[in-house]
Amino acid sequence: MLPALTWRIMRTVDPRLLAKFAWNFGWKGMLSVERFKRRARRGEYFPPFLYLSILNSCNLRCQGCWVDVEAERTQIDLGLLNRTIRDAKAHGNSFFGILGGEPFMHPDLLELLASHPDAYFQVFTNGQFITDKVARKLRQIGNATPLVSIEGLEVASDERRGKADVLNRTLRGLDACLREKLLTGVATSVCQSNIDDLLSEAWLRELIRRGVHYVWYHTYRPVGPKMSAELALRPDQLVRVRRFIVEMRCRMPIGMLDAYYDHVGKALCPMATGVSHHVGPGGWIEPCPILQFATENIRDDRGVFEAIRSSAFLKDFRETTAGATRGCVVLERPDLVADLARRHQARDTTLRGTAMVELAAMKPRFSQWLPGEEIPERHWMYRLAKKYWFNDFRAYDRTPPEPGTRLKALKSMLDPAGNQGITLSQPSSPRTASAAGSPEKAGVSG
Ligand code: SF4
Repeated sequence: MLPALTWRIMRTVDPRLLAKFAWNFGWKGMLSVERFKRRARRGEYFPPFLYLSILNSCNLRCQGCWVDVEAERTQIDLGLLNRTIRDAKAHGNSFFGILGGEPFMHPDLLELLASHPDAYFQVFTNGQFITDKVARKLRQIGNATPLVSIEGLEVASDERRGKADVLNRTLRGLDACLREKLLTGVATSVCQSNIDDLLSEAWLRELIRRGVHYVWYHTYRPVGPKMSAELALRPDQLVRVRRFIVEMRCRMPIGMLDAYYDHVGKALCPMATGVSHHVGPGGWIEPCPILQFATENIRDDRGVFEAIRSSAFLKDFRETTAGATRGCVVLERPDLVADLARRHQARDTTLRGTAMVELAAMKPRFSQWLPGEEIPERHWMYRLAKKYWFNDFRAYDRTPPEPGTRLKALKSMLDPAGNQGITLSQPSSPRTASAAGSPEKAGVSG
């Protein structure tokens, strides 16, 4: 798998871009994680993976989107973005995730990328604004990988994303990137409507045929004002996603990213480990993109490094979460999120101003933390990379969340009759699973 992937990348990515990736993301990124580890040992936190949502606007209307895409445009201006990135670079960072809304609707996106040739950017996009001209410009600049989101085949895509012909328009942008020999990825938020189509070997083969270099499977988080809870995966499906990724990593010549497990398959939350935080379109520094509360803003004179390093809110958020769960606190403990926001009088950073109401409407559900169902990495490269540069960074050592209660709740949810007939590894029949698959029905409180 690895020789085939390396050969494919070498043949299809511009060598100058590959060198930028290897140096800015690979080498400097590794050093930034090492710095993070040293700081963490002193109890100081500044994330090596900083994500910036540079504006709220988007041309699509995806189900379950938590961004205020219909509100008046709010964006971070170029000067402030430059200052924030310079400050993070001065403290050893070299990687930045750029999100929106749709980042290519920001008038200064390309100028932003060009202003930081010593950094590497991953741009999360629906691909529809990437014309040949834009792709050529990205190639010229050389320090960004577009991560194009595809949420289903034709019908599912249009339904998930609220417009017609979404998939074809996205594929045109994807192909433009590949023609210009950019290192290009595809992201999918796996949910009920796309799991069978996109979590498949056939789909990976199709992506490889097109020339895509890596994929990133997220799992759908039902949050926000229109949370579409019916799209969320059941626990057995979460295990299925994990198993698929681990297996395909050994077999398919395509890179596969995920952000929820360490090298031995233990669940983790990147926010709770401190390895990643997020800046929203209003400049507010949030624990992660779907946790829209904050007490600090990048406009603060102290700059982003000091604002994050000294934030009592973020510290409490990381530590309290790590003591409660190895999974996603938003899904499992919306009550705890609300408590933390209240405790610190954190600002609701949504433009709609309804974050607390949305939390109150959420029913606790299982996330990636499914004790007893850990699937260790099988491919040596991922095992090694995660062991050193992507793991829980001992965030859960101090007050480990208790797996026993969790396991009991999980088993009783999947096997309410107690007849031991259902295991997580074997997906249950659709009827049984959907009846049992909703934690709210089983009274699970996380
Ligand atoms: S809280 Fe949930 S969505 Fe946010 S980083 Fe953690 S696992 Fe991801």
